[in-house]
Amino acid sequence: MAFEKTKKLANGNEIPRLGLGVWRVEDGNQVIDSVKWALQAGYRLIDTAAVYKNEEGVGEGIRQSGVPREEIFVTTKLWNEDQGYDSALKAFEVSLNKLGLDYVDLYLIHWPVKDKYKDSWRAMEEIYASGRAKAIGVSNFHKHHLEDLLTTAKVKPMVDQIEIHPTLTQEPLRAYLEQEDIAVEAWSPLGQGTILKEPVLVEIGNKYGKTAAQVIIRWHLQNDIIVIPKSVHEQRIKENFDVFDFELSSEDIAAINQLNSDERLGSNPDSFDF
Ligand code: NAD
Repeated sequence: MAFEKTKKLANGNEIPRLGLGVWRVEDGNQVIDSVKWALQAGYRLIDTAAVYKNEEGVGEGIRQSGVPREEIFVTTKLWNEDQGYDSALKAFEVSLNKLGLDYVDLYLIHWPVKDKYKDSWRAMEEIYASGRAKAIGVSNFHKHHLEDLLTTAKVKPMVDQIEIHPTLTQEPLRAYLEQEDIAVEAWSPLGQGTILKEPVLVEIGNKYGKTAAQVIIRWHLQNDIIVIPKSVHEQRIKENFDVFDFELSSEDIAAINQLNSDERLGSNPDSFDF
């Protein structure tokens, strides 16, 4: 399946389909190097968040990479304690300053904090109108959170970043998002590394001379899911991007779908307590 390396969001902007996630990557040299290696390997999307406490290093890695800013898609996220209208506007300024950028490509509400996310969204809409976030969206929103948000939203979220991997395929939510033209982005796409020895994945990889990680990334891409695997190792960062020269068959995809057990590694958006 030949497909574009970017996907068009509802507002017409292009988002790269494969990026680098930097959760639990240390600020300073570790994140600077990871971002530089990724950009040098061809990645054009970096996914950070205020709560990852590495936005400064992400900005530094981008500047050191030599890749022009306008070629890179930078995502950051509004943390839970900063939700609310005024505090969201302030938190955005802090993130932008730390990144050392004058705009981000995507700003996300990190979690659906009850009684607050609608006010946060008004701030997101204002930030979007100012041009300092080229797209806005949400993360960890179930269908009912989105339905509620859409009762007052003037701008529809362009992305929902949710936990998806072969053991949590989220098919009903993905179908709803597709119907609403909200792009689906997977977090913990490799199941945080816990499923890389799964025989089904290893065997499929052997057929193509690819690793289980590459098979999973390809599974996301062929399912029209934007995917942001994390690694701090140059070799693995390269490996995770080397997925554009093979194609999974529909039988492979079906076999991977069978691994679904609806088990989360992270919190449930209906019961998180942070
Ligand atoms: P992931 O599923 O990307 O797994 C990363 C782990 O897999 C690595 O730490 C490493 O142990 C292993 N790994 C990666 N590449 C490998 C390879 N080629 N070979 C062998 N092992 C390999 O986990 P993640 O970091 O939880 O998720 C990715 C990104 O998603 C995060 O960095 C972050 O940007 C985002 N995220 C967002 C949320 C949210 O609430 N929105 C939550 C979690 C993560």
